[in-house]
Amino acid sequence: MHVVVVGAGIGGLAAGALLARRGESVLVLEATGLPGGCAATFSRGGRLFDAGATVGCGFHEGGPLERLGRELGIEWPVRPEPVAWSYRCGDLELDLDRTGKAVLERFPSSAPFWKAQRLIARELWRLSGEGLAWPPSGPRDWAKLLLTGIKALPGSARLLPYLNRSALDWIASFGLGSDREFLRFIDAQLLIATQAPASGTSALNAAIALDLPAAGTFRVEGGMGTVAGLLVRSIEENGGGVLYGRKVERVDTVGREVVGVETSDGGAFAADLVVANLTPRTLAAMEGLEGYPISPDRLESPWSACTVYLDAPEGALSALRANHLQIVRPAGELGEGNSIFVSVSPAGDAGRAPAGRRALTVSTHTRPGPWFEARAGGKEAYLAMKRRYADVMLGLLETHLPGIRARLPEPTVATPVSWERWTGRSRGLVGGYAQSSLFGVRGPDTPWRNLKLVGDSIFPGQSLPGVVTGARRTLLACPGS
Ligand SMILES: Cc1cc2nc3c(=O)[nH]c(=O)nc-3n(C[C@H](O)[C@H](O)[C@H](O)COP(=O)(O)OP(=O)(O)OC[C@H]3O[C@@H](n4cnc5c(N)ncnc54)[C@H](O)[C@@H]3O)c2cc1C
Repeated sequence: MHVVVVGAGIGGLAAGALLARRGESVLVLEATGLPGGCAATFSRGGRLFDAGATVGCGFHEGGPLERLGRELGIEWPVRPEPVAWSYRCGDLELDLDRTGKAVLERFPSSAPFWKAQRLIARELWRLSGEGLAWPPSGPRDWAKLLLTGIKALPGSARLLPYLNRSALDWIASFGLGSDREFLRFIDAQLLIATQAPASGTSALNAAIALDLPAAGTFRVEGGMGTVAGLLVRSIEENGGGVLYGRKVERVDTVGREVVGVETSDGGAFAADLVVANLTPRTLAAMEGLEGYPISPDRLESPWSACTVYLDAPEGALSALRANHLQIVRPAGELGEGNSIFVSVSPAGDAGRAPAGRRALTVSTHTRPGPWFEARAGGKEAYLAMKRRYADVMLGLLETHLPGIRARLPEPTVATPVSWERWTGRSRGLVGGYAQSSLFGVRGPDTPWRNLKLVGDSIFPGQSLPGVVTGARRTLLACPGS
């Protein structure tokens, strides 16, 4: 088959690499000059910054990235992080690691909950590695699901009572529903991993999201963009190609068949199969697909991100106990500068920053609407909003690293407007859909037989392990599978 993949995000590259390995002829068309999308690493002023994703997840034994590497013959240049990230909320300081010790010491009554969470997460990691045919879209998928479930018995049966349960309800069943400090901690973890607090996250999605520190997180040498780079190389080694600066603007169809795509520079590429690493809204806006029925916002992330990139002298970071730090204000809405995620390039990853300095990113969840309004209001209004957010975010950082602000250079600030430009995602909506339920989630199918979706808009959603698992789901739906 001639396969065209639209977009070189991790979802598109993982699907492309697996198809190329299977012997298909794969061409990836990427709008920008770099692979990786939300998980790209870009260079500015001699520093290498991770654009979005900074924490390497899913590289543990049996995890989606580890399995993908094994299958493609890629040896990921990753090293385990002793502490996944430090969590700070007021006076509370927790180092989240594989043992979970800090959390258990601070919240001893939560031990039975974590025991249950580990058991469920272990089953979910196992099932997801198989390429879960969820959501099922026909008898073939149901048969595959049934087979996977039977093969994974009795573990898979353990999951059944949780299928339609919220994380909050599940946590409350352990008598933890009124521990505000514990719930704040859980909400903050879930917001960064499932895009919703415990009340809006499904119990099974929460089980795996809360497992990330326990499963083990990894630093990726050279920055997260290394993952995309190695997937590109795998596609090329298997006879495929990746072209940059090729924005797909039109999908050519005959009836319910896709026959090719056209790029903004006048290129035209015939295809037996098109895999779109796009959000449904972006796909629907494509010429030639008028009338693509996207359902309303329920399946779209409400969030974009505001991200600050700068570098810091090592001396200003000496109080850090890990390469990642999550800081949360004790009360008020999460996101919008009230909760931030801070990442520094690992000491010793020499290519990331000049000697004695570390590349630093700070991000917060933010709603896109006000940013686009400010932009429409003119350059001054937009710049003022950027300055205000950077101020709030770096102010929160200062509360835990006193004196750091005075030692920081002027930051580069990315907003939902920048994210829209960078990823092509309408409104800069990054982070995938809010994982509130396992039912009604989107799969890879579109109304066109040979046009499939991949990426964090489809089940199971955001993160590198999420989109790699989703890429396997996309493959199950492709003609020829
Ligand atoms: C701030 C932030 C922090 C995050 N932190 C983490 C983390 O620490 N760990 C983790 O695992 N995950 C993290 N994530 C989530 C993770 O980065 C994403 O879920 C994942 O990378 C999304 O991949 P994707 O395949 O959906 O595609 P995307 O990353 O959206 O890539 C899509 C690609 O398609 C291209 N494209 C778009 N339109 C066109 C077109 N018309 N023609 C050609 N090409 C096109 C884009 O340029 C882009 O390269 C984070 C995300 C963000 C935003």
